[in-house]
Amino acid sequence: MSEQREPTGAEGHGTGSAGRSAERSREWFERASALTPGGVNSPVRAFHSVGGTPRVMVRGAGPHLWDVDGNRYVDLVSSWGPMILGHAHPAVVEAVRSAATNGLSFGTPTTGEVELAQEIIDRVPPVAQLRLVNSGTEATMSAVRLARGYTERRKIVKFAGCYHGHVDALLASAGSGVATLGLPTTPGVTGAQAEDTLVLPYNDLAAVREAFDHHGADIACVITEAAAGNMGAVAPVPGFNAGLRELCDRHGALLVVDEVMTGFRVSRSGWYGIDGVAGDLYTFGKVMSGGLPAAAFGGRAEVMARLAPAGPVYQAGTLSGNPVAVAAGLATLRAADDAVYARLDENARRLGGLLGDALTSAGVPHHVAYAGNLLSVFFTEDEVHDYAAAQRAETWRFPAFFHALLERGVYAPPSAFEAWFVSAALDDDAFEVIAAALPAAAEAAAAASREGTR
Ligand code: PLP
Repeated sequence: MSEQREPTGAEGHGTGSAGRSAERSREWFERASALTPGGVNSPVRAFHSVGGTPRVMVRGAGPHLWDVDGNRYVDLVSSWGPMILGHAHPAVVEAVRSAATNGLSFGTPTTGEVELAQEIIDRVPPVAQLRLVNSGTEATMSAVRLARGYTERRKIVKFAGCYHGHVDALLASAGSGVATLGLPTTPGVTGAQAEDTLVLPYNDLAAVREAFDHHGADIACVITEAAAGNMGAVAPVPGFNAGLRELCDRHGALLVVDEVMTGFRVSRSGWYGIDGVAGDLYTFGKVMSGGLPAAAFGGRAEVMARLAPAGPVYQAGTLSGNPVAVAAGLATLRAADDAVYARLDENARRLGGLLGDALTSAGVPHHVAYAGNLLSVFFTEDEVHDYAAAQRAETWRFPAFFHALLERGVYAPPSAFEAWFVSAALDDDAFEVIAAALPAAAEAAAAASREGTR
């Protein structure tokens, strides 16, 4: 989920139609809103970008989710990435059941965490050692700390539109030029926490070169999404990741490749399996968690050796390597064979084809963008290579598009700036539901106006 949330003022969308009640969702959401800020435990779930009532889900199986009103949805969010096998996959559920039977947490070394580390290291050769944590945020926070500790430098480079979790230093936006320092994007992050963060345009190697020219001796690391998925799906242009590698080498900085979203989804080795550019440090989450709270960071042995207790850079966690979470992740990765990856790729292309056909028929300017099997729809015909271009798209068409899909049983990500996540469980029946919903959704996008009416 990304930090860029653009409320559209589209409240009132999606009150339910075509016999689909959202009454119980509304009741539960009202209750949630009294107890939890905004009614949610992570902002994008609140539907602020699209308006209307968030659906309160009670069950998932295969490609489907069911809400508290009993409506079924084809799920194109997949818990924001983890559920590549679909919901409640029997092998994963059995692994969780069996691990839970043996105890929920020991706070000691376990066999499962060794096996999960081995599975990840086998899949991603630049990773020699791995540390398990509980969330992607914790992984990137720890990787940045380790990069700073290892290089004994302060500054970090990140790219606008890339999201790496809610780490203070990574919640920074660009100042007025590449040589200026980052500015906090949220109250609660101080100028001091953001000022060592240089925020540059994605896919712009010249900007990175210039930043290194100005600050080279102070830059500890460049952190980048292996392929951007948090401003919509925006693949690195050819040579971008390799150029980062070269610039980091030239200036003695570390390359931190964030594969929380792409890892073990876009190929068995994540984005590394696609472009083969080796990072010094990697962050993982989502798929490797199997849907439970688990994440990891890892990389070169020499760098990881600086981490406590082997080295001086402190990092710890009461529930890190939790046996039940580890069992879910391991079962997911073990089930994710070549056939699953072929299916994910096929499903992404099939979904993208349907999206493109429907929007073309309705005359909506659009561009279906892919980053491996991540995809998203930009309401512009222009290519999108960075966040500024993503923001220039006609995102005001998205709420109407989203709600028309939702009302017809298709659960798309509730924001124009999010990637769509297919699962291998999507079958012909699920695609029929999507194909049946899309013409009306495309018409709704065509009829949408900038002011937010449908
Ligand atoms: N990095 C990337 C690329 C992500 O997409 C996310 C979350 O979406 C994170 C890090 C943060 O992960 P978490 O939400 O588990 O803290």
